This record gives sequence, C-alpha cells and structure tokens, in this order.
Amino acid sequence: MLVALAGVAGALAWLVGLPGHEALGNLGGTAGLAAAAFACHRVSRITGDDPQVRGFWRLWSFSAAMLVLSTLSAVVRTALGRPGLLMYEMVPTLVSLNLAMAAFRHVPLTRRTTTDWVRLALDGAGVAVAGVVFFGYVVLDIVPATTPAPARWAAAAVGVGCLLALVVFGKAAVNPEGRVDPGALGILAAAPVVGMVAVVLFLGGTPLGMTLLSLVGYPLVGLAICGAAYRQARLHAAKNGRTPHRSLADAAQYLAVAVIAALVITVSARDLTGRGQAVIVGAVLIAAILVARQLLSLRENKVALHGIRRQQAELERLALTDALTGLPSRTGFGLALAERLEKPGPATVLMIDIDDFKDINDTLGPSAADQLLHQIGRLLRATCGPDEVAARLGGDEFAILVPSADPVTVEAAATRFQLAVSQPVRASDQQLLLHASVGVAIAAPGESADEVLRNADIAMYAAKESGKASWVRFEPRMRQDMADHARMAGELHEALVRGGELRLHYQPVFDLVTGEIEGAEALVRWQHPTRGFISPGEFIPVAERSGLIVPLGAWVLREACRALAANRQIEAINVNVAVRQLREATFVDEVAAILSETGLTSRNLILEVTESSVVDGRQVRETLQALHEMGVRLALDDFGTGQSSLSLLRAFPVDVLKLDKSFVDGVADGADRGRIAVAAAVAQLAEHLGLKAVAEGIESEAQRERLRAMGYRYGQGFLMGRPMPELPTAPAPAGRPATA
Ligand code: C2E
Ligand code: MG
Ligand code: MG
Repeated sequence: MLVALAGVAGALAWLVGLPGHEALGNLGGTAGLAAAAFACHRVSRITGDDPQVRGFWRLWSFSAAMLVLSTLSAVVRTALGRPGLLMYEMVPTLVSLNLAMAAFRHVPLTRRTTTDWVRLALDGAGVAVAGVVFFGYVVLDIVPATTPAPARWAAAAVGVGCLLALVVFGKAAVNPEGRVDPGALGILAAAPVVGMVAVVLFLGGTPLGMTLLSLVGYPLVGLAICGAAYRQARLHAAKNGRTPHRSLADAAQYLAVAVIAALVITVSARDLTGRGQAVIVGAVLIAAILVARQLLSLRENKVALHGIRRQQAELERLALTDALTGLPSRTGFGLALAERLEKPGPATVLMIDIDDFKDINDTLGPSAADQLLHQIGRLLRATCGPDEVAARLGGDEFAILVPSADPVTVEAAATRFQLAVSQPVRASDQQLLLHASVGVAIAAPGESADEVLRNADIAMYAAKESGKASWVRFEPRMRQDMADHARMAGELHEALVRGGELRLHYQPVFDLVTGEIEGAEALVRWQHPTRGFISPGEFIPVAERSGLIVPLGAWVLREACRALAANRQIEAINVNVAVRQLREATFVDEVAAILSETGLTSRNLILEVTESSVVDGRQVRETLQALHEMGVRLALDDFGTGQSSLSLLRAFPVDVLKLDKSFVDGVADGADRGRIAVAAAVAQLAEHLGLKAVAEGIESEAQRERLRAMGYRYGQGFLMGRPMPELPTAPAPAGRPATA
C-alpha cells in the first residue's frame, strides 16, 4: 500500500514539475499492483476454509497480476516513447477486468430465481448500451487521429467493461447472502471507477491523459485492491476471535476518488481548452455520481445487513429458548444433544413428563399451571450437575441431557430429578405435590439426536403405563412394541369400520347364596381375519392409547343394550367403560340416547369403571355424577388394585364393588394373609356402605365357599360360568358351569 502511495506521490511530483516523475510513477503502479496481487493471494490462503471467499480472492490476485503486465507495458512505452505499445497495455487490462468480473461467480449476485437473473441481465444490458453509446459517439469522437484504431477500441471496451463491473459490484454488495465482506467490495469498486476515468483521459488523446493513467490510475487501482484485501483479512481475523479495528481502507477509498478528481480537474483547467475540458469534467462528474450512488447503496446495505443480523440473532435466541422457563426449547435441546453426540463420549436423555398435569391444568387454570411449570423448570435447573442440560420440550414435558452412559449413574440421575419434581410447589395459594414419569434413553453408538429423543419418549410412555411416578429405561423391544401397537390400532380401526370382526360375549354374575344368575357382564372379543382371536387384554390398551376406545366403547354399549332389550331374562347388563370415554363431554347424552333407542331404562345398565379412572379429573367426576343422577349404577372394577381410599368411596356415587381376581386367587389356600385381609375388609366395607360386593374370577369351590363366608353375596368366575356368545337365558343353579 505504501508503494501505491508512492505512485500518487509521483503524480503529485509531476504536477509540480519535479524531474524523474514519470519513471517513479510507472514503477509505483507496478509495485502497487504487485502488492495487490500478493495481498489477494494471501487473503485467499487465510480464508481457505470458505471455498467461495477463497475462489473470489484468488481470481482477484490473477486480475491484479494481469494489471502488473499492463504497467510493465507502460514502463516500456514511456521509456521508448512509442505509442504502438498501447495495445500491450490495453489487452492485459481487458483480461484483468474479465478475471475480476469472473470472480463474482463465487459471490451470489442475487437470489437464484429466474426473475432475479433476468433483472440482473437487464441492468447489465442497460449499462452496456449506455456505455457503448457514450464511448462510441461521445468519447471516441474526440480521440485524436494519431491514436491507433485497435488501441481506441480496446480502451473503449475497457471503459464499458468498467461500467459493467460497477453493476456487478453493486449487485454483489447489496446481496445479504454474500460471503465476501461488502466493505471490501465497496473498496474494490474504486478500481473500475478509476479505470473508467483513466480511459476517458487516455482517449482524450493528450499526453496528460496517458501520464495520468500510468502515474495515478494504476497505483490507485493497486491501492484500492490492497485496501479491500486488507479489510477482508481483518474481518477474517475478527471472526476468529481477534478484535477488529476500524479499517483505514474505508478512508483510502474516499481519498483515492478525491485525489483523482482533484488531479483531473486541476490538470484539465491548466492544459486543455474547450471541448476537451468539457468532456473531462463530464467524465469526472459521471464518476463522482457513480461513486456517490455506490457509497449510498453500500451505506444502506450496511444498515440493512446490521438490522437483519440483529433480527436473525434474536429469532435464533427465541427459537432456542423456552419463554416460560428460560430453559432451552425443544429445538435448543435437539441442537445441544446433536452436538454432544458428534463428540466422542457418552450421552443419555431423561424425558420427564409430569403425571396428571392435564387435571392440574383443568383444576387450577392455565396461569397457575404456567406458574407450576416455571417452578418445575427452576427445580430441574437447580438439580442439574455441571455438565447436565435441562430443557422444556413443550407442555409438561422436560428433558435432561446427562453426559454418561453408565446405567447406575443415569438411573441415579433419573431418581434425583424425580425427587426434584416431587418437592412441594405452590400455585394459586395452594401447596401441591407433583409426580413425574421418566423415560431413560442411553445413546447407542451412531444414533441421531432424533432417535435418542424418540427412545426416551417411548420409555417415558412405558413408565406412564407401568403406573406413573416411576422411571423406565428404554429397551430396543419397546420400539417393536410401539410399531406393533400402531399396526394393531390401524387394523382395529378397519375392523370397527367394516364390522363383523368384533363380537360381545357375556359372563354371568351369580348370586352365591341362591346360585341364580343375577346379571351379566359384556366383554368384547375380536376375531381377526388372519391373526385369529385377539384377547381384549391385548387390544383394549391399544384402543385406549389411540383413542379408538371411544367409538369401540360406544359400539359395545349399544350392542349390549340391544342384547338385553332382546332378552329380558336378567334385570341389568354390566358394561366396561374406559376413562377416555368418561372424559368425553358427550358421554352422558350418548348413554341416554342408547337407552332410549333400545327401549331400556337407567336401571337396566351398570357401568364398570376402574378406581384409577375415578380420580382422573373434573370432567370425569362430573360425568359420573350426572350418570348417577340419571339412575345408571356404577361399579368399581378390579377393586383393590388401584389407589383405593375410603374418602374416594364417600365422594364417588358408587353402587357396586368388584373385588379383583388377584385377591380371590389366594383366599382358599390362606398363603397370602395380606390379600385375605383385604378381601375380607372389602366385603365389610361394602356392607357398611350399603354397596353390592362382587368377587371376580372364582375358579374353585373352595374359593366360592370362603368368599361367601367372608360376606360376598355375588360372584363371577369360570367355576360358575365362562363368558359366552349369548346372554344367559335362564337362571342356572350354582356349581354347574354354564356352557362357554
Ligand atoms: P374385567 O372387566 O375385569 O373382566 C373380567 C375378566 O376376567 C374377563 O377377561 C373375564 O373373561 C375374566 N374372567 C372372568 N372369570 C374368570 C376366571 O374365573 N378365571 C380367569 N382366569 N379369568 C376370568 P377378558 O374378557 O379377557 O377381559 C379382560 C379385560 O378387558 C376386562 O377386565 C376389561 O377390563 C377389558 N374389557 C373387556 N371388554 C371390554 C369393553 O367392552 N370395554 C372396555 N373398556 N374394556 C373391556
Ligand atoms: Mg369388568
Ligand atoms: Mg375386573
């Protein structure tokens, strides 16, 4: 850059008439451009990790090298005083210009839509036509006859090329997707401006024009290229963590233009007259206008770019952070996990889901639920070890990234976070105790972030199914189970639509004292066309998870009511109802509609619900209350296996308790005293509360006798009657099994 400044000094020396000025000036140009070629080459090396930027600067180094050839021709021309060498100066200049423009192949000039390309071509064509007219009819008109024709045309071509180059520079500088620093592009734009002015001066035909070209033009072009390369290098250094200084090259750009304008105007005022002066002043004015225009759009571009970058950073921050808890969001967690998986070393994801959060949300309202989530987020963050990352994936779902694959460590972490969630929290002036289900997925080698998250999710669902408030470690077979369930859900849906595959069987309920049939329970059966009989124990959970239980349950209810309406041998039919059905706000109306449609009354229906479904939430409680008020009786199925509590029995409008088969199994041999005690207690409880007690799954005479002795009036079981395809028609004596 210093050498290029020497060129400018040479020009000034010439202006004040010092001897030796021309040689000094010409060598200044050579040295300046050689320095520029070297600077561009260096920048292409240091920015080697970005192939676009590297390619751009490499071509610029070739372009500057071609200009070095031009200056050498100028040195020879001045030494020999031969105008014929002009061609040797112009041709490398044209090649250089083409190389410079070719460099923009590496810089996206526009977005890549067809319209954008057409717009760019039109801009270019407009400028090219204007340039050709300007040089062909205005500038070439004043060229003295002594200038050889090829040199004239070559110079005019350089002029048009410079104009075109300005369009390309402008387009590249305003494209926010550009990888080359727009500041550097702005400085580079000084090169074609200088070139254009120099061409006009040269075509003016005066020795002054030639001298200005070699003394001032070349060094200034070298200076501009050096400045641009310098700026790109600084930017690269800043990106790599070094602090950027405000570049002097910005000022050099303005200085270059100002110096050349001052020179041209001073000289033309001193040496030229008339037409020549007008053309020169016009050319300077055009150059000044173009530069001003260029600077303006650069400035706008800089402001816009700054704004876009700020917005981008803000959007990125918002996308990566959860607004409620301040923890990383699902996206942020996904990125952190992917980064962790790329490095060598273990990783495990704990997927944490708050149990029954939907109920809490319904009861407390969304703003109190948000407060809770905020507190849970805080607790989880406080529980994190130094390398652990907590995130909120959405809703009541949280995740922890644990940098370990040791089963003992990750299981200890699962327990630690579970304990953290079960600390008492406050919301809406209420103290609450929460529980969480945790899925643990240890990343296997080569697994992606998505796969690990999905495994953790599967394990979390398994934890929920195993009774909540627990953790489950992912095992590959779980994925197969999920796939099987999904397939079965699809087939069940088809079975419901097609009809014919689903049937009801009826298991009689006996009076253990009289041995007479007291009622019957409807149990659904699925005869699959290819897989044969599928037990409800297998497909009911699938139906519950997929929501198909709602249409399936409605079908069962209607079929059972129709069967009873057709055969009134028993007073009431028992129908099993899943909690998903009770959550439907329309369930009560549906029951009423089916009863009236089949001509039954509410006394003819007993709905069996499990204990755990009763504590599901407000909607379920309201539904059960409304059914009770309608006169439909409710039975607590599988009693003794859930969270049976006396307060539940008081609050819940129950009519029948069905003792679960697991208690019946042990009553006869007396092996499990605890279970016998529960069975006895349930009978007494029913008696005191005035409820009907039914023992389920009686398989032996001894069991039946023992249960009767305990106070069970009613019973169900293979001993007396298996489920059968028709409703029992006549009372059967106890002890003789009904046909299956
Ligand atoms: P559940 O409601 O407790 O039904 C009693 C289950 O015990 C029935 O099994 C019945 O066949 C079986 N069982 C009765 N006596 C004996 C016995 O002496 N020994 C043995 N080993 N088992 C006996 P099933 O039909 O396989 O139904 C299983 C569960 O599927 C039912 O348990 C119920 O929870 C569910 N389910 C069946 N049908 C429906 C339905 O239509 N809707 C809903 N939501 N659930 C249903
Ligand atoms: Mg049942
Ligand atoms: Mg049961």
